[in-house]
Amino acid sequence: MNKFLKAFLDIFFSPKCVICSKLDEKFLCENCINTISKIEKPICQFCGKPALRSVDRCIECRDEKLYFIKARSFGLYETVLKDAIVEFKYNHIKSLTEVLAQLLYKVYQKNYENDLFNSIEFVPMTRKDKNLRGFNQSELLAKKLAKMTKIPVNGFLIKVRNTESQMGLQLSQRRKNLVGAFNFQGDKGKCGSNILLIDDVYTTGYTVSECSKVLLKNGAKNVYILTLARSILM
Ligand SMILES: [Zn+2]
Ligand SMILES: [Zn+2]
Repeated sequence: MNKFLKAFLDIFFSPKCVICSKLDEKFLCENCINTISKIEKPICQFCGKPALRSVDRCIECRDEKLYFIKARSFGLYETVLKDAIVEFKYNHIKSLTEVLAQLLYKVYQKNYENDLFNSIEFVPMTRKDKNLRGFNQSELLAKKLAKMTKIPVNGFLIKVRNTESQMGLQLSQRRKNLVGAFNFQGDKGKCGSNILLIDDVYTTGYTVSECSKVLLKNGAKNVYILTLARSILM
């Protein structure tokens, strides 16, 4: 190859860390990963929120009816992790799937390896939204994690109506916004007892709870949540 062409391609197409631009084939370098505020114990045993001491339910989740067994996340939704998720979702850097799924896998190993899951599921998007973005980030993460854990992904959930972005809504409207948004597809008989549900960010837990409710109605017994990031409300 012409050396000028090669230099040109190297500059524009070499994989770089999306945060610091250092050459890195995973698109997110170890130095940047090390700056993420990881969620470590003590936490709320239910929703996984960092706490001063280990509690069964915290102020954020104790008055909420949430339909899953517990939720765990890799790190706080801020700085590097937030920027990486934004690049992944909104700037369509699909190549981040592998490295982000590895972060999910770390949380899985720490919290869920002894739980036997029949299926890994993901929070779905409407067909229209998925076509607009070109992919569903939670689906990509779930499928990558499925390869790492050798647990199948069945795609039991579908999103049947558009909802307003949860971010732009008052807390009181967020739950209502999701009612009836998700449905089950496929064979109920195949929906095994234990399901691991994947999403990118956990905020109120309403989205994953609504999805859990649909899975429970269709044969699942327990739904566990795993997300990359955790956004703290209060
Ligand atoms: Zn970096
Ligand atoms: Zn909690």
